[in-house]
Amino acid sequence: MVPSAPGIELPERIARLAELTYNLWWSWHPDGRKLFRKLDYALWKAGGHNPVKILREIPPERLRAASTDPHFLALYDSVMASFDADMNADATWFTSKHKGRLAGPIAYFSAEFAIHSSLPLYAGGLGILAGDICKEASDLGLPMVGVGLMYPQGYFRQRISPDGWQEEIYSRLDFDKAPVLPVFSSDGDRILASIQLGNRLLLLTVWQVRVGATTLYLIDTNVEDNSPHDRDLSARLYIADREVRIQQEIVLGVGGVRILRALGIEPSIWHANEGHTAFMMLERIKEKVARGMAFEDALAEVRSTTVFTTHTPVPAGHDVFSIDLVDKYLSDYYGQLGVDRDAVLRLGRAHHDDGGFNMTALALATSGRCNAVSQLHGQVARRMWQGYWPWAKNEEDVPIMHVTNGVHVPTWVSPEMDRLFQQYLAPDWVERHDDAKLWDRVADIPDEALWRVRHKLKMKLVSFILELAQRSWSSRTVEAQQVVAMGALLHPEVLTIGFVRRFAGYKRPALVFHDMDRLKRIVSDPWRPVQIVFAGKSHPADSPSKWSLHGVCACAADRDFQGKIAFVSDHDMHSAHYLVAGVDVWLNNPRRMQEACGTSGMKASLNGVPHLSVKDGWWHEAYNGSNGWSIGDGIQPSGPEDEDCVDAESLYSILEQEIVPLYYERDRNGVPHGWVRVVKEAIRSVVPVYCARRMLKDYTDKLYLPQASARASGHRHKPSID
Ligand SMILES: *Cc1c(COP(=O)(O)O)cnc(C)c1O
Repeated sequence: MVPSAPGIELPERIARLAELTYNLWWSWHPDGRKLFRKLDYALWKAGGHNPVKILREIPPERLRAASTDPHFLALYDSVMASFDADMNADATWFTSKHKGRLAGPIAYFSAEFAIHSSLPLYAGGLGILAGDICKEASDLGLPMVGVGLMYPQGYFRQRISPDGWQEEIYSRLDFDKAPVLPVFSSDGDRILASIQLGNRLLLLTVWQVRVGATTLYLIDTNVEDNSPHDRDLSARLYIADREVRIQQEIVLGVGGVRILRALGIEPSIWHANEGHTAFMMLERIKEKVARGMAFEDALAEVRSTTVFTTHTPVPAGHDVFSIDLVDKYLSDYYGQLGVDRDAVLRLGRAHHDDGGFNMTALALATSGRCNAVSQLHGQVARRMWQGYWPWAKNEEDVPIMHVTNGVHVPTWVSPEMDRLFQQYLAPDWVERHDDAKLWDRVADIPDEALWRVRHKLKMKLVSFILELAQRSWSSRTVEAQQVVAMGALLHPEVLTIGFVRRFAGYKRPALVFHDMDRLKRIVSDPWRPVQIVFAGKSHPADSPSKWSLHGVCACAADRDFQGKIAFVSDHDMHSAHYLVAGVDVWLNNPRRMQEACGTSGMKASLNGVPHLSVKDGWWHEAYNGSNGWSIGDGIQPSGPEDEDCVDAESLYSILEQEIVPLYYERDRNGVPHGWVRVVKEAIRSVVPVYCARRMLKDYTDKLYLPQASARASGHRHKPSID
C-alpha cells in the first residue's frame, strides 16, 4: 500500500531522498530544508522550495556528485536518522501518557489543509490550523489521518492589475511535481469509492500526502468514468455556487467515510473541522442503520465517537443549504436512515429557523463534544446556540466548550529565532516548547543579540519584497508606480507594520486609512517614519472586499504616502514566513466578536513581532498589558460606524504616543531597550500557550480521550434535541 514515486531515479547511496521528498516532514525540520537547499540551490529557490520538483528537474550529474560528496552525505545520513527516529518513535507524548487508549486513529475532516505552499489547498486560517494540527499530531505521536478534498486547481493565485484590482489566476496543479501520490490497493489498482449524488453515481479516487507520521487523504472526483462536469467538481476551493458547494461537501463527508472504509482504516474518533464536513456523520448513521440498528441508537453511537469544532461567530458564516438542494441531493438518505424526510431535515434545523439546512446544526446534533476556538468565541458560540438546547437555562449550560487555537511552532519559527532560542533557552527548546518555565529564560537573551536577529529578519523581508518588485519590473509588464506599490521604496530601518490576512470585511483591512491626513503625517514623519506592508486575498465573489483591496493598492501607489505603503501580492504560506517574522508590529483590527480566534498574531509573537490588536479572539485572553497593545480597549462602541471611529482613533494614538516613540528610543549602539522588553514579553507569554502542542494536548485530554472512554464504558449520550 505504500505508494512509490514513479520516474525518480536516484543513486543507490541517496536513494531514500525519494521517500523524504514525499514526506513533508522535511518542511518543519531545519536540516531537512538544508538538505534540499544544498542539493540544488537554484532549483530550490526557483521552484518555491519544492523538493519533488527538484528531484524531477535536477541534472543526473548533480545527483551523482551529491552521492559522493562527504559533506552532503553526512547531512543526508543525519537527516535520515532523525526522520527514522521520528517515524518510529515509541517515546512520544501520546505513547508515554496515553498508550493504548485509542483503538484507531483520529479521522480529522477539513475542507482545507495548508501543509506547504507547494500544495495550494487552502484559503486562509482554517486550512493553516488543519495543517498545523496534522504536523503536531505527528510530533506528539497522536495517531491521526486527515481527510480533505484534492482541488487540482486549488485556491487562486492573485495578481494585481496595473490599475490596482485583484485578478484571479487558476492553474492546474502539476501532480508530477507536487508531494502527492496516488493510493493503490494491495492488488495494485487505484483505490475507488462511489457515492450517490442526486440521481447519478459518482466515482471517487484518493491521493495521499505524508505529513510526518500523519497521512492526509485527499479525495478527487477526476475519474475517467465520471462526466466531464463531475470530474471538475472538486477542482476549486470555495466555489460560490451553492449547488456545487453542497456536492463538494457530500463528496468530502460521505465520500470521505467511504474512502476510509476502502482503505481499511477504522478511526476511533471522527473530528469534524467546521460544518462543511458534517455529512460524514449522516453517512456513519446510515452505515449503522444498514446493519440493522435503529436510527436513535445509530445517532447515539455516532455522537459518542464524534467531535465538532465550530470556527465562525458570524451567523452568515455558517453554511445553510436550501431545502430544495437538500431534497435534490440527500433524498437518497431519507429512507436509508430508517426515518422519514422530516426527521433528516430536523437534524439540520437551527433554533433560529433560517429556512434551510444548517450544517452547524447538523454537526451539533450529531457530535458528542463540541468546541469553539478561543475563550471569547466560546462565550459567543454558547450565546449564539443557546436556543438550540431548550434545557440550557443559562449560557454556561450550553455544551460547547473552547480550545484556543495555537500554531505549529517548528513550522512558524524563523531559522534565525530558532538559533537564538537554541543558544539562550536550550539546544532542545523545540522539544519542550510548551513548558512555560523554559520561556522565562527569554529574559537572559542580551538585548543586542535579540535586536540583531530582529534586524536580520526585517532585512530578509525587505529583500524578499524587493526581489519580487525587481522581477516584475524586468518582466516589462508593470509601470514604475506599480513597482513602488509593491514595496520598492521600503526601507529596512523604518518602523514597519504588517497587515496580512484574507481581506474579509469584518477584518477591516482599510481601517488604518480612516483618517488619511493623520496617517500621512504618521508615515512621513522625517525623524521617526513608519511604513505599512499589506498582503492578502479577497474572495473572488466578495466585491466589497475587492474594493477595499483596491483602495489599499491605490494608497500604495499614491505619491503622498511616499512609497511607505506596500501591497505584497499573492499571499500564501511562503510569503507568510517572511512577513510574520520580518515586520516590527503585527496589526489586527477585526470588528469585535467576529474573529473567532486568529492565529497569524501568534506566529508573529513567536518571532518577536508584538501584536497590535483589537481585544478579540485569542488576544482577549492573551493580552497582559505588556506583551503588545490593545486597540479600543474598554470602550463600548454604539454601532459599526462608531466602532470604526473609536478603533481608528485608538489605533492612531497608540501609534503616535506609544509605538513610534518606543521603537525609536535607542541607546548609543542603536538598541531600543524599551522595545526589546515588549518583544521579549510577547515571546515569553505567547509561545508556550498559543502553540499547536498545547492545543492538541487539550483536544486529546478534553475531547478525544473523554469521548473514547465514555464509549468504552458503554455510556450513552442522550441525544439533546427533539
Ligand atoms: C496564519 C495564516 C492565516 C491566518 O491569519 P489570521 O490572522 O488568523 O486571519 C492566513 N493565511 C496564511 C497564509 C497564514 O499563514
